[in-house]
Amino acid sequence: MLDIYKKLPKTNCGKCGVPTCVAFALKVQNAQRKMSDCPYITEESVGAVSEKPVVTLDDNYERVSNELEVIATHTDFKEAAAAIGGHFDAKNGCELIRLTMMNKPYEMRKEGLFEGDAYCHDSWSKIIIYDYIRRKGNKPLTGDWVTLGHFPNTASHVKAFQRSAEEKVAETFDKNMNGLKARCKELGGVENQGKMKADYVCRFDLLPCVPLYLCFWAADEEFQASCKLFLDRSAEAYIDIEYLAYLVERFIESFVEL
Ligand code: SF4
Repeated sequence: MLDIYKKLPKTNCGKCGVPTCVAFALKVQNAQRKMSDCPYITEESVGAVSEKPVVTLDDNYERVSNELEVIATHTDFKEAAAAIGGHFDAKNGCELIRLTMMNKPYEMRKEGLFEGDAYCHDSWSKIIIYDYIRRKGNKPLTGDWVTLGHFPNTASHVKAFQRSAEEKVAETFDKNMNGLKARCKELGGVENQGKMKADYVCRFDLLPCVPLYLCFWAADEEFQASCKLFLDRSAEAYIDIEYLAYLVERFIESFVEL
């Protein structure tokens, strides 16, 4: 953590969304922030302190996923499955939890996370699912739809999120409502009109108890198309909000990948 801290300007300006540089360094170490979230960090400034970064981001992700794996595999699977909307199974004495993330099936076993019969090697998928399991959220949906910025410590994500997620969807499907609907269906979305006054609303279960609501307003003569993404207020009981922000970005990447 100190090696990361040494590379920062130490001005505690808060532009990264974290109040101090020390707190930011800790978040980078825990793979909750990227070095590039500090606007004063350039490749040169990292190199000026040390020829080689002491820890790469991938090293961090792997380390965090390994640490979370130990906790998640020691969790009571039966209790966790009930609390997170997973399906508990115990075949031949081997306990497992079946769950989906972004419409893709996974199995949580006592050896770790599996996709089909293969151990999952994607550190981010493991971080998100392990965190989801260990938290055992167990909170009913509140019915309150909030944007990502509603959750604490998300300031640095909000702008990037609007650019990389909401504007991307609006641009991709501007004047193409049928294309949007077809894409939603392909990704397992369920039309969910009624809550928000949008031209089209679709619900996706990012994780069994973490729905995402995509609201889309079609372009007209005056305005371009626009999109807003909402989460249920209960999401923070189920998953670290930084991981949630990443999950939503990942979802949008696959959504607009045509
Ligand atoms: S943006 Fe964050 S890490 Fe960068 S100088 Fe400001 S407080 Fe420190």
